[in-house]
Formats: sequence, C-alpha cells, structure tokens
Amino acid sequence: MTLSVDRIAMALLLIACLALAGRNWLHDHPGDNPWAPLALDEAPGWATSRKLAALRTDLATCHAFLARSGLPDDRRPATGAGACRREDRMALTIPGASLSPHHPESTCGVDAALAWWLRHGVQPQAQAMFGSQVVRIEHLGTVNCRRIGNGDTGAWSEHATGNAIDVSAFVLANGRRIEVRRDWKGGVNDAAFLHVVRDEACKSFSTVLSPDYNAAHADHLHLDQANRVAGWKACH
Ligand SMILES: [Zn+2]
Repeated sequence: MTLSVDRIAMALLLIACLALAGRNWLHDHPGDNPWAPLALDEAPGWATSRKLAALRTDLATCHAFLARSGLPDDRRPATGAGACRREDRMALTIPGASLSPHHPESTCGVDAALAWWLRHGVQPQAQAMFGSQVVRIEHLGTVNCRRIGNGDTGAWSEHATGNAIDVSAFVLANGRRIEVRRDWKGGVNDAAFLHVVRDEACKSFSTVLSPDYNAAHADHLHLDQANRVAGWKACH
C-alpha cells in the first residue's frame, strides 16, 4: 500500500516537473507558443504564421502588435466612399529605414507586415549577401481607387483601400541600389536578393506578386493583405 502511494506521489511530481519545464520552454520560445501575443523581436516558430495571419483579420490584434513591438501607430481619420472607403487608415513607417516617397498611407495590416518583413526577411538577407543594411525602400504607391487592371468592371484592387504597397527598389547603407525592374534578371547577387526577399514577403503578406507573375509587375513587388477568402495566400 505504502509503495503504491509513493509511486503515485512520484508520478504526480514527475508530471508537475514536466508541466513546469514545458511552461518555461514555451516562455523562452514564443514563436512556438500559439497563445503568446506576437511581437516584432520574436524568433519565428511553428505558431508564427498563424499569428501573422491574425494581423490582417483582427484590427485590434494588429494595433496591439504595433504597441507591443514599440512601433509607431499613426492613425488617420476614415476617408473615401464606396469601394474606396478607408476606415483602417494610417501613415506608414518602418523601423530603422525610410520609405520613399515618405509616409504613404496604408492599413495596419500592411504596416505590421512590412515591419516583420524588414526585420526577419530583408535585413538578415541584406546583411548576409552584401554586409550592409537596407536604409531606404522605394515604392510606387499604396492608395489608388481603382479596380484590378484599371478597368471599369471586375474586382477592386487592394490598393483601393490602401491595403497594398508596390515596392520598386532597395537602397543599402553602403550606397548599393537594387531595383526590381533592372535587377530581377540582372547581376547574380542582386537578382538572388530580390528573389529571396520576395519569398520572405510571402510569410507576412497574404498576396505577393513579382515580375514572375506578369508583365504588369515587371518593375515592382506588389504586397497586399487581402482577406476576402479565409486563408487566402498567393505568392508568385
Ligand atoms: Zn500593387
């Protein structure tokens, strides 16, 4: 009888130790913890993609991510009408680099995804391939009240609500400028950089269209946070 009680006590102690170890491990690996709120500095884990997806489906979660990550949250009043009504509207900034033209307007989801892409995709690749950091991202625009393909009919572009950005070039601290139009099939390193940062963008944006997609994207990477269909992802 005593032996049995001892065994039960030992088993309970072992379970308690395992639970404590598991809790500590999750605390040290928030990327693998689906309950830990996402922060910019978090090392990516198996739970990260789901948490990134929530940034585009839940506005409160998105703004909380910006606050938790120490990122600016420069909201603007709603504007526009119909398909071009913009309720989720803010001045876009990215940490540690500038956007050119400065302070375009976009959505929280685009702002958050850009910050994540820069921190976990663009900068590590620039450092590894060129030994330098990106200091400026050039773009062709964010907000444009139009349909896809500029026609009179068909679906509205994500640009209609500012839920997209067209990235055209990267400028490094060492002066190197890598341009989508010129370098997509250009020098080995520049082309490799553009392709890998395109792939990295697919981790935080729901839609990524590059020159590989069609001629309309020959000079930029179209990055958007479309959420029209649950789980929508496109990476070309
Ligand atoms: Zn676009």
